[in-house]
Amino acid sequence: MAKFRRIGVLTSGGDAPGMNAAVRAVTRTAIQCGVEVMGIYEGYKGLIYENMKLFSNRDVSNIINIGGTLLYSDRCLEFKTEEGMQKAIETCRKNQIDGIVAIGGDGTFRGATDLTARGIPTIGIPGTIDNDITSTDYSIGFDTAMNTVIEMVDRLRDTCESHARCNVVEVMGRNAGYIALETGIAVGASAIVTREIPFDEAKAIQKIKESKASGKRNFIVIVAEGVPDFAEGFAKRIQEETGIETKFARLAHVVRGGNPSLRDRLTASRMGEAAVKLLLDGKSNLIVRERDSKICTIDITLGQMIDRMYKGTLKDHDLDNYSEAEIEEMKAFCKMRADEFAELYNTADVISH
Ligand code: ADP
Repeated sequence: MAKFRRIGVLTSGGDAPGMNAAVRAVTRTAIQCGVEVMGIYEGYKGLIYENMKLFSNRDVSNIINIGGTLLYSDRCLEFKTEEGMQKAIETCRKNQIDGIVAIGGDGTFRGATDLTARGIPTIGIPGTIDNDITSTDYSIGFDTAMNTVIEMVDRLRDTCESHARCNVVEVMGRNAGYIALETGIAVGASAIVTREIPFDEAKAIQKIKESKASGKRNFIVIVAEGVPDFAEGFAKRIQEETGIETKFARLAHVVRGGNPSLRDRLTASRMGEAAVKLLLDGKSNLIVRERDSKICTIDITLGQMIDRMYKGTLKDHDLDNYSEAEIEEMKAFCKMRADEFAELYNTADVISH
């Protein structure tokens, strides 16, 4: 096996608090192993346009506590073309980059597979606040984002209580309702609306009316961004049907920034170290993931198929290369995820009276 002289690290797709902690861990682990590290700026774009810098331990000092990504991020469409990909490969060869750690989401992992297939072994680290990568229990940024949501919503609750109001709050999560579900429980929401679970609007409104009749003054409703054209209209309908003055708030990108929580710094550090060790051990096309609090891996392509199965976006022939037994295992995994979600949703329902 070729000895690694230098690896690259990049962050791509939507940024997430804790990405810097991962970059720091990747850099320091590699240097500790006698391997140089090239920090690649603006995701895959930096590979195409050779925007990069050789990192020392000091280049990643004082960043473990900072949100965003010091490597910057970019959604680089050119990288999806064969020409762009070839330019990226040439840049790697020219700069003696023997392998890459790519921190990001689903799209980032697809790019990682493309690089691996063209001779640059790549390992992915899940970094996205939405926690929408089915194969991992956890992705970097999720905890910080949720802590920001509960801080913001606690403030809204104070003023709702003073004025006997309701506030409908839309939170991020384009493809997954995890932020809405978990923060909904944590803020004591009267209702949680996600794409994963059919929402019974009449029942929710009835419940709000009953709680009001029993003396409740403040009402919080959390809606995941992935439920299209819903939150604002729902706020109007609550007001009309319950007589409770109802405001609407979209937290949007405020939830993407901020200093990473302990959970995110710790997970990012563990995943960063693991990714480098895997790469130097000759492994590639893997996602570093967390399962039952342990850091382990899954093949990127298999991870993507599980993701598509869970989200109902499988394409024809996606599963052609998998055996019956493997497909059954994937289905069981998706069912477990869906059951976990439903169980938590039920908890929210039980305690929201
Ligand atoms: P995320 O990684 O958060 O899902 P994106 O979907 O925007 O974010 O993907 C990040 C980047 O990964 C894209 O800008 C592009 O450079 C690269 N990428 C996305 N999809 C593919 C693909 N199918 N093939 C190669 N590269 C891709």
